[in-house]
Amino acid sequence: MAVVVQKFGGTSVGTIEKIKAVAKKVIERKEQGNEMVVVVSAMGKTTDSLISMAKEISPNPNKRELDMLVSTGEQISIALLSMAFHEYGYNSISLTGFQAGIKTEGHHTKNTITDIDLRNVKKHLKEGKIVVVAGFQGINENGDITTLGRGGSDTTAVALAAKLKCICEIYTDVEGVYSVDPRVYTKAKKLDAISYEEMMEMASLGAGVMETRAVELGFKYNIPIYVAMTHGNKVGTMIKEYDETMEGKIITGLTINDDVLMITVNNVEYKSRNIALIFDMVGKHNINIDMISQTAPFEGHVNVSFTCSKEDSYAIAEIAKALQAEMPQIELSQESEIAKLSVVGIGMMKQSGVAAKVFNIFADNNIEFKQVTTSEISISYTINSSDKQKAVDALAKALEL
Ligand code: ASP
Ligand code: MG
Repeated sequence: MAVVVQKFGGTSVGTIEKIKAVAKKVIERKEQGNEMVVVVSAMGKTTDSLISMAKEISPNPNKRELDMLVSTGEQISIALLSMAFHEYGYNSISLTGFQAGIKTEGHHTKNTITDIDLRNVKKHLKEGKIVVVAGFQGINENGDITTLGRGGSDTTAVALAAKLKCICEIYTDVEGVYSVDPRVYTKAKKLDAISYEEMMEMASLGAGVMETRAVELGFKYNIPIYVAMTHGNKVGTMIKEYDETMEGKIITGLTINDDVLMITVNNVEYKSRNIALIFDMVGKHNINIDMISQTAPFEGHVNVSFTCSKEDSYAIAEIAKALQAEMPQIELSQESEIAKLSVVGIGMMKQSGVAAKVFNIFADNNIEFKQVTTSEISISYTINSSDKQKAVDALAKALEL
């Protein structure tokens, strides 16, 4: 019997009615002769509400305790879903990350999976049960509950599929992967297939449909990931190895990321030691830096800008204090009305002129950009949020997305 891993996101299990519908969908698949492992997220906005409660106690809650708290969200949904299977006459068991053998390491709230001990999962599958696993959580070497970072249930699902050597199906509230976020650009097209590389790039650049690390795992272990809508039977998107049939367009997608905080440090004395000091401090706070830019020196001083996630705003304020103690002349400011737009396409590896094309589209539409970065298969621009819609419309139209 083939094993199938299916994952259902928070919206798909947002209400009791929806949990029942998910159970029926899984049962359908089981009846086709498959062994089922089901990974679920917390119901609806549960994780957000748990985090808000923690923030009411402290602006910077203890991270071990935060993991303890937010991991409860998934425990509610696994128990309810498993009960639904029982109610429909199917044998099932819910397992926490720990019970499913998911081992992690790293910093609390940002853990990575190191290994999965499948013995328990396999035992229950053998007994004919539908195994329901809590997404997003695991256990570290100290025996503490850990979580994998926001959206981490996708990673749980793909990691399980990699270990079980089977397909992973991700069910969500959208039809699949789109060329552009359809909430921002209504004419966006659903893609039938996309390569791992492009999906990783799009996910890391802000396409919310899939979590980046999950796609990386799929790529590493060559696990096909099928992304589709939970309710209904519309064909979704297959994320898989790049092949010739995908060739055609140079740009596959445009991603939009609003979670951008731009920090500018003005008046830094022009010495490489000072720049190192700034980024050492940022690194010590576990802040993931995205773009960096620096102005040319003027009268012995430079201005340095970098971007990170808005959730790092608190840590940045701490860093500002520490830096000011070392370099009293600097001025540090944070800007949050920033959006990052990225064009992504594997075709860019062979084709030049994409950056020029985008610069021209911006120029024709009076859009000013602040920073630009490139990778082999993408180019990203930060712009003012107020220009976002205009930029997306213009780019999507010109690039036929
Ligand atoms: N419940 C977690 C979150 O909201 C994990 C997930 O949904 O994948 O981030
Ligand atoms: Mg998600």
